[in-house]
Amino acid sequence: MTTSIPATLIPGDGIGPEIVDATLAALDALKAPFTWDTQIAGLGGVKASGDPLPKATLDSIRTTRLALKGPLETPSGGGYRSSNVRLREEFQLYANLRPARTIIPGGRFDNIDLMIVRENLEGLYIGHEHYVRIDGDPHAVGMATGINTRQGCRRVLEYAFDTAIATGRKKVTLVHKANIMKVLTGLFLETGEQLYAEKYKGKFELDSIIVDACAMKLVLNPWQFDMLVTTNLFGDILSDLVAGLVGGLGMAPGANIGTDAAIFEAVHGSAPDIAGKGIANPTALLLAAAMMLDHTKMPELATRLRTAIDQTLNIDNVRTGDLGGTANTAAFTKALVSRINGG
Ligand code: NAD
Repeated sequence: MTTSIPATLIPGDGIGPEIVDATLAALDALKAPFTWDTQIAGLGGVKASGDPLPKATLDSIRTTRLALKGPLETPSGGGYRSSNVRLREEFQLYANLRPARTIIPGGRFDNIDLMIVRENLEGLYIGHEHYVRIDGDPHAVGMATGINTRQGCRRVLEYAFDTAIATGRKKVTLVHKANIMKVLTGLFLETGEQLYAEKYKGKFELDSIIVDACAMKLVLNPWQFDMLVTTNLFGDILSDLVAGLVGGLGMAPGANIGTDAAIFEAVHGSAPDIAGKGIANPTALLLAAAMMLDHTKMPELATRLRTAIDQTLNIDNVRTGDLGGTANTAAFTKALVSRINGG
């Protein structure tokens, strides 16, 4: 019998608790041996204790080193700093793995099987920003600083290249903007090419592309790519684009991997426009839970979960509204659990 695995559970904001409930129902049906320590963060943390990332939540992840997380709200403009970014920094979650696979055939893009690996701690995304006052206008100029380090680039590139080999990817594409941001993203490109020549030559094909051209080619012919590895901000944007190729944000999971912890989540946010209506698609978080099962060396359970999701969507045709269906979250979850139980 598998021993119990302690894990932190953060239901999150907006649709978070709704999709987390659905995911827990599926994991319970699978008898996945996680023992959950439920904690708060984001807007929930602010409301409960005035802190978007309470110490108890950090302490819990420090102990379990494993978390399943619903989306966390971050105000645009002013307000508090993103709890997601802070969690990534705190636990040095340097690699963000975002797979995109067609699950529902017959859409605009069939047979997509792409992996994006996004650097998760550096670049322009770190949010080191300030205003400059000129002639009494305190916001006359907005400035941002991006930082990439050779060591930071190298560790995510190494992780990506090793993952490419472990998962049988044939081609890895480095995505950059080194024609304009020659220093910031040039360093990423140069480090990737050097690392490949040093340790990985012949194990897979390596090429590179400028991010704007990559966006266009992803829409025209996504099948030419296999794995994309890129810096933080480009990875953020391209992973939403790629989610759009496979049915939208409701279908896109993500894993934040570090040396000391791993946090699994959906790519999407808290979806305030549909929160509380019971209509959210829980598939992205369910697929993130499948990644968590793989990560904790339970690939049979991960496969059972992915198979049940496929069957619910494609054989039972039970789909939420974002996928053109009529099921609400509860009806989808019920059908999924019935599939997991062999129904
Ligand atoms: P969003 O991803 O929450 O929503 C974008 C659109 O996709 C909305 O129309 C929403 O209804 C739809 N959508 C998203 N997930 C869905 C699902 N599971 N089922 C059905 N439809 C779904 O993006 P946003 O509105 O820009 O952001 C809302 C909040 O989420 C912001 O505060 C943002 O900072 C935060 N956010 C958090 C994370 C995270 O926690 N990892 C990621 C992205 C955004």
